[in-house]
Amino acid sequence: MSPKSGAQLPSLFTIATLGSHSALQILKGAKDEGFHTLAVVTPINERLYSSFAFVDEVIVIPRYSDFPRLEKELNKRKVILVPHGSFVAYLSMEEHKKMTTPYFGNKSVLDWEADRMRQREWLTRAGLKMPRQFTKASEIDRPVIVKLYGAHGGKGYLFVKNPDDFTARASHLVEQRYIMQEYVLGVPVYIHYFYSPLTGKLEIMSMDRRYESNVDSLGRIPLADQEGWDIQPSYVVIGNQPISLRESLLAEAFHMGEAVVRVSRELCGERGLFGAFCLETIVTPESEFFLMEISARIVAGTNLFIDGSPYSYLNYDEPMSTGRRIARELRNALLSNSLDLVLDQSSRMKFDRSAAPNGESVAVPGPGVPAN
Ligand code: AMP
Ligand code: AMP
Repeated sequence: MSPKSGAQLPSLFTIATLGSHSALQILKGAKDEGFHTLAVVTPINERLYSSFAFVDEVIVIPRYSDFPRLEKELNKRKVILVPHGSFVAYLSMEEHKKMTTPYFGNKSVLDWEADRMRQREWLTRAGLKMPRQFTKASEIDRPVIVKLYGAHGGKGYLFVKNPDDFTARASHLVEQRYIMQEYVLGVPVYIHYFYSPLTGKLEIMSMDRRYESNVDSLGRIPLADQEGWDIQPSYVVIGNQPISLRESLLAEAFHMGEAVVRVSRELCGERGLFGAFCLETIVTPESEFFLMEISARIVAGTNLFIDGSPYSYLNYDEPMSTGRRIARELRNALLSNSLDLVLDQSSRMKFDRSAAPNGESVAVPGPGVPAN
């Protein structure tokens, strides 16, 4: 893309993120797209992140939760934050929202994503199937999974067989906030999408299935040998494995992503969901997708595809990770003078509008179009 009037060069901007989760992918992608890069890390991570040539700068903070205190320092430069799972895991929603550092994405979506009941409304309004939900232990008529609010990476989830099992193992949870969902037997498929507000197009970037301890290991012990041994499945994420979807299921995966974006514009303000997001599904033997959750940002399963995925290769003739796709969007936004279309509205950056007094933006062509 050739620069338009009012265009700004990516090399004048810094893409910054917290050093964890998918930061290496995000910063490598940012460097590949011509940005300056900054990792904000805790002391133990300093040497690791400094060891990569694509990380231009490292700032050390004692704990990730100290990040909001850097706001002043970040706002002095042309920093754009790219959020990932550690932002929601380590910063409170209020802190996260209060920060005015330019932020890729729409923070209004966070209210809908963080509340499991609102998530359910969003996904069901989009016509997606969700596992049945139970509110009282006495209603349980099939195996359920009990999920604590704010659980990180599947920690603290319980598989419960029936009401008696609930009383025996889960009644202590009454004090806490949790949901009970029908346990859907099938293959967990996590679909990674990117929706571009500049092109109005949705792309499937990649897919993974999680590898969870110990549930994914139970099949390694014959059932007969499990008998009499008090094994409880747990769902702590340890890593991710790539998966390619049966092609006849791909159209539905695409339509689900489109529906979620469309409904987000009715629920989360007119800008709705944009950028990277993930639909976390279980696919049953009837080839039905059941939605467990939506993540409204880059997910760690995309780390399998730093060099691109079979799906991103269909759209790009070069390695295109989700991290790089985010940087490409920011780059295209800068070159077309449309940065505000891809940043949260809390973002405070003194844009130089002198070259384009009417603030006009220009249409950007679709995927695969080189940025220069
Ligand atoms: P971390 O900084 O590694 O603690 O990650 C922050 C949050 O992202 C965790 O609490 C998990 O919920 C999630 N997460 C991290 N790594 C993965 C992964 N490989 N797969 C899925 N989720 C992950
Ligand atoms: P989540 O935090 O919702 O992404 O779930 C973490 C893991 O728990 C998933 O990868 C599944 O292995 C399991 N899980 C969550 N919800 C369900 C469900 N309704 N049925 C079966 N397994 C589930």
